[in-house]
Amino acid sequence: MNIAPIKIIKNSAPSLHKFDSTNIKFGSTFTDHMFSATYRDGEWTNLEVIPYGNIPMSPALSAIHYGQAVFEGMKAYRGDDNCIRIFRPNENANRINTSLERLCMPTIPPEIFLSGIEALVRTDAEWVPKEPNTSLYLRPFVFATDSSLGVRPSTTYRFLIIACPAGLYYPEPIKARIETQYVRSVPGGVGFAKAAGNYAAALLPTELANKDDYQQLLWTDSATHTRFEESGTMNVMFVIDKKIVTPRAGDTILKGITRDSVLSIAHTMGIEVEERDVTIEEIIAASENQTLEEVFGTGTAVTISNIKTIGYKNKEILLPTPSR
Ligand code: PMP
Repeated sequence: MNIAPIKIIKNSAPSLHKFDSTNIKFGSTFTDHMFSATYRDGEWTNLEVIPYGNIPMSPALSAIHYGQAVFEGMKAYRGDDNCIRIFRPNENANRINTSLERLCMPTIPPEIFLSGIEALVRTDAEWVPKEPNTSLYLRPFVFATDSSLGVRPSTTYRFLIIACPAGLYYPEPIKARIETQYVRSVPGGVGFAKAAGNYAAALLPTELANKDDYQQLLWTDSATHTRFEESGTMNVMFVIDKKIVTPRAGDTILKGITRDSVLSIAHTMGIEVEERDVTIEEIIAASENQTLEEVFGTGTAVTISNIKTIGYKNKEILLPTPSR
């Protein structure tokens, strides 16, 4: 598909000179530009890179009222050779369309998604930090922009990509609590989509866990709360007897791109991988008989994060955390 050229409008008051790449707080400092496209009359138009800044909106904006909003998360890394590489962007281009379809929103031609990402990263290339464990986090997102309170799919949308430098999300292994009251997603729901509302639904239970000194939750299946699903913004993997065991990615789990990479690399390294139901009972038993070697989460923001403690029904399972 041939797409219209992307217009570049440079920021006349850049703030790059104020950016300290040795002291990065995730998600709080944004680069000087953002990519923008609008959807109307059945097509994505006005492809442009513009100065990062506030956007005007109607108080009746349908995304705010009925939640037609999806996003992606991906990273650009600066290599030792100074070359900037974006991690598996085609996968994000495909996954945002899976999310958009489920939320009854128009899909984005991958050519537009990928050229938008590239145009923004080229324009803000100086923002990609070079320190170890740093990257430029890219946040593409789409939201409904009709100004109407009618409950129906919007006819207009905006696609923006913003970017912020990122360091290590969890510098240390974390504590995660098994959630057995609240649910993140249900079969037939939107758990497999990166829908904004999924994250809102997780905030209260996560806050409750935070109060008890757990950084994250381990979500379980909505029907029985006996099987693991995922954790926060990570997929979860258990190493039992040298084998990687991870919940199958059905419609209640976000199919992580990092998850896919870890499973492929494990496969090429000859490490056995099982994608299947993983029960709490099984993990407690593996911990007791000392075959549970490691538990970790995988995700774009967190990369690979070890879980050092699992909380369950007022007890704690202490886990080995191998040094890397
Ligand atoms: N699960 C959820 C709910 C997430 O938000 C994320 C982060 N995108 C992941 C898993 C991990 O996915 P990925 O490896 O593609 O970042």
